[in-house]
This record gives sequence, structure tokens and C-alpha cells, in this order.
Amino acid sequence: MAKNEFKGKRKKNQASASDEIITLNNVSKAYATGAPALNGVDLHIKKGEFVFIVGDSGSGKSTMIKLLLRELVPTSGDINVMGYDLVRIRHSKIPKFRRNLGIVFQDFRLLKDRNVYENVAFAQRIIQVSNKDIKRNVPSILATVGLAGKYKAKPRQLSGGEQQRVAIARALVNRPSILLADEPTGNLDPKNSWEIMKLLEQINENGTTVLVVTHNREIVNAMQKRVVTMKKGVIVSDEEKGGYIDED
Ligand code: ADP
Ligand code: MG
Repeated sequence: MAKNEFKGKRKKNQASASDEIITLNNVSKAYATGAPALNGVDLHIKKGEFVFIVGDSGSGKSTMIKLLLRELVPTSGDINVMGYDLVRIRHSKIPKFRRNLGIVFQDFRLLKDRNVYENVAFAQRIIQVSNKDIKRNVPSILATVGLAGKYKAKPRQLSGGEQQRVAIARALVNRPSILLADEPTGNLDPKNSWEIMKLLEQINENGTTVLVVTHNREIVNAMQKRVVTMKKGVIVSDEEKGGYIDED
């Protein structure tokens, strides 16, 4: 009885932990010039996973992130994210698709002339959340990322670690199913890098699927998560509780 009650309250589209949320089948991406940035990539990620993507500069990590965001379309192969076929998706459906994704970059990309609160509220205004709900959601998400009390600060008044927390709050405020982070600690010192990675881990523990592109060898080795290693557009290893593979 109690069990059924719980079941009934689950959101309809909430899949069980074993369901795949990201699927790449034989995906290649060639730009106008140069060797293909991705070359026959297969990748399967389940709902609720935490995955590190590592590899040398130029190995295709950011290209993969852009494909997942549907910023790019693959040259060949199939990509499915949350049930959306990203090769065949209609343009009119892309904004709705993207609402399920949060994205964080190395360089924070905050609005410099807006304060912390407005930077996060902006993401909600775009999807027409009511002011009443924004007033509830923004403080709640800022507390989650450890920035309660910094609402009025402008980005330049914050440390790099704090700016990245604002960016993470902005990425999360619309409650995405997946958080993508492309070298989120690339501009941070070791202490702030650790704090940001721990925050991403906590977000994952609360149910969000998290993909993190990083060069941070020490953190990858310590955190014992799934590690996908790329080299020249190919996945060369994919390990549960993996480590950073040294270049030969
Ligand atoms: P990573 O994020 O692992 O450093 P990228 O995905 O950015 O790698 O790049 C993979 C390869 O694709 C590199 O050789 C890079 O020079 C090339 N590349 C990336 N973006 C473009 C582009 N817009 N036009 C042409 N080549 C590109
Ligand atoms: Mg990159």
C-alpha cells in the first residue's frame, strides 16, 4: 500500500535507475577542415550516473558536449538524449529539449552587469516562470550551492569559485535532468576545484545525471567515478571507478 502510494507520486517520465538517458551510436563529427573531431563513438549513460570525460586537448570532448546540447549535429551516427532523437528533432522542439539540460563552462559566462540573484533568475525568466516562483526558487538554489547571502554581489566582486557556483545555480534552477560541465574547474585553484567537484557530486547524489569534462587528474583519481577517456576522437577506455590514464 505504502509502496503503491510512492509509485503513484513519481513523475510519469521518471525512469528507473537502470534506464539510459544518453545514447551515442557510432557517432562521427567532421568539421569543414581537419581530421574528424569524433570518429565512431559509442557511449551509453544511465539516468543518475556521474561520468568524467577526460583526454588531451583536441581529443573531441567539447565536440561531444556540443552534440549533446544539439548545438552541433553529427556527420553520421545517432544520438538520443532523454528520448529525443537529436539527429531528427524538429527545430521547434529544440528549446523544449534544452530545458532538460544544465550547462556549465570553464569561463563561467555570467552577465557582468547583473547581480548574483539576477544571473540565476534570468534562466527562469527565459522560460516564463512567474515572479512568485522565481522568488522561491532562486534563494533555494543559491542556498544549495552555498551562496546564501551573496544575492546582491556582482560577478567581479566574487572569487572564481563563487562565480562558478553562480553558474551552477543558474544551470540547476530550472531543474534539469542532466548537468553537463565542460572543464568547470579549469580556471580555479585546487581548493576551489575540489569544492566545485564535491558540489557536482552532491548534485548527482540528489538525482541529476552529471557529465564532467576535466583535466584534473588528482580529482579524477580520488573520486572513483566512471571515467571515459578520449583520444583523437575515439573513446579509448571507459571504466567504472576509473582513474586518469597516463599518456604514453
Ligand atoms: P577538446 O574539447 O577535447 O579539446 P574539441 O572537441 O574542442 O576537443 O576539438 C576536437 C577537434 O576538432 C580538434 O582538432 C579541434 O581543433 C577541432 N575543432 C573543434 N572545433 C572546431 C571548429 N569549429 N572548426 C574546425 N575544427 C574544430
Ligand atoms: Mg574542450
